Amino acid sequence: MTATAVRNSLDLIGNTPLVLLKGPSEAAGCEIWGKCEFANPGASVKDRAALWIVRDAEARGELKPGGTVVEGTAGNTGIGIALVANALGYKTVIVMPDNQSKEKMDTLRALGAQLVLVPPTKFSDPAHFVHTSRRLAEETEGAVWANQFDNVANRKAHIESTAPEIWEQMGGRIDGFTCAAGTGGTIAGVGLGLKEFDENIRIALTDPHGAALYNYYANGELLAEGSSVAEGIGQGRITANLEGAPIDTQFRISDEQGLEWVSRLLSEEGLCLGLSSGINVAGAVALGQQLVAEGRKDVRVATILCDTGFRYLSSLYNADWLASKGLPVFPWLRAAE
Ligand code: PMP
Repeated sequence: MTATAVRNSLDLIGNTPLVLLKGPSEAAGCEIWGKCEFANPGASVKDRAALWIVRDAEARGELKPGGTVVEGTAGNTGIGIALVANALGYKTVIVMPDNQSKEKMDTLRALGAQLVLVPPTKFSDPAHFVHTSRRLAEETEGAVWANQFDNVANRKAHIESTAPEIWEQMGGRIDGFTCAAGTGGTIAGVGLGLKEFDENIRIALTDPHGAALYNYYANGELLAEGSSVAEGIGQGRITANLEGAPIDTQFRISDEQGLEWVSRLLSEEGLCLGLSSGINVAGAVALGQQLVAEGRKDVRVATILCDTGFRYLSSLYNADWLASKGLPVFPWLRAAE
């Protein structure tokens, strides 16, 4: 692999490596590839959305020198925005629910963002973090609201960068792509982008429990069942980013299934990831198995390794926390007790 040299720190966003995942490939009976989004400067897939949203606000003339970017976010988008804003001389204000991981909050503060914590509540409540962030942006002089859920600059990042990178890295030989949706920017953007290269690439939504999209794509009804502790994914409505997303099929994956892959990817392949990555990999295995069962040969599926597990040391990688959620504790954490 050729290592790159860049003149501008923002050019470190994107162009992430793609890795063949051994365990998942064996389980699926085909090749499962993971796009290493944890390799972005902010250690998540959301750096791309942050960069595209900020550049779009500049291009529209809304964000001027010395201005402020305000966003409501479960964390990763805020981290991406804070880094991009620092690099371009803007201030960052982040509104997030107070039930998110401590690491994300500490990280945002460490990066210089002003953090506003609000209690978690339903989307229809005006006190929801998304609405709070919009109001703050309206009330703050020189501020723009990033609006990651309904600002399609988010999915454009994946149409213009993630999808062509995957296509090129796989040498144009890809049968399926899947990932979960938070804003839906990744699944919609990569889906639309890949279909531009080959409309036969099967795009599958991998939905966690507690989200409404699985039922929407399966039966046309937004209906949530169960719950999930996964951060950053699980959507209850069709955001502007999800409108027109080319979803061909869908899988519903439990936290236990996702955790099994988080555990195996770390212990067998040395990849320390968050739960949304584990859920994505479980979905990719299901999609691979589906394509293989149809008699296709040399099947290749790609998914997203969304963020680093180092962001979840006090939750996903903590025996007490896992036990308190009734989730299986990783064997090596049990041994340390
Ligand atoms: N995984 C994690 C950890 C995230 O923070 C996000 C962003 N909300 C996603 C997955 C989903 O990405 P998207 O918003 O593009 O649907």
